[in-house]
Amino acid sequence: MLAWPDIDTVLLDMDGTLIDLHFDNVLWNQRLPARVAAAHDIGLDAARERLYAHMRDAPPTLDFYCVEYWSAYTGLDIAALHEELGGLVAYRGGAEAFIDAVRASGRRAVLVTNAHPKSLAVKDHQVRLTARLDAGFSAHDFGYPKEDVAFWPAFAKREAYQPERTLLIDDNAAVLHTAAASGIRHLLCVTQPDSGRPPRGGLPFPAFNHFAEIMPD
Ligand SMILES: [Mg+2]
Repeated sequence: MLAWPDIDTVLLDMDGTLIDLHFDNVLWNQRLPARVAAAHDIGLDAARERLYAHMRDAPPTLDFYCVEYWSAYTGLDIAALHEELGGLVAYRGGAEAFIDAVRASGRRAVLVTNAHPKSLAVKDHQVRLTARLDAGFSAHDFGYPKEDVAFWPAFAKREAYQPERTLLIDDNAAVLHTAAASGIRHLLCVTQPDSGRPPRGGLPFPAFNHFAEIMPD
């Protein structure tokens, strides 16, 4: 599936790629709506609809991924919610072995995530993610989410990589599209970002589930 001899840098998304999206789905689709419902004395469905409507209407900026933005909107401590659910943070199948194999093969493995630094810190604390990688970056340090074409030139100023010799693995097809437009040649999507939900079909990029499928030679 991958032309490993042509790849020397691997950029890795976090949520839904290295880390099971189950954590975020429980937080944003269950725990947060339940707290909004309790705070406003409304039903769970009404709370969900209120949150989802605001998510749909939110401009495609970093606010969507910003713990402080959603704390301000809901009046709830979203960072504390992350800590409450910390026990649900888990690697996706084979992720740790894959990172180790990429680095052992002499290639560079770099985390690049839209997650807010507070969300990243909770996941890091639970599963020691960034210590396992050569480097780790939050899009919040660059001012644009990865699905904005402006992200990639800003990121390239901090992390020197040759786009034609770089692989990006990300569960978000919109991100893979802007990465492709920026010149990143090797692109891979994820069929099952959340282990608790069915695999996705019809993705516009080659895709895998368990990291054992894509180990470096
Ligand atoms: Mg993701």
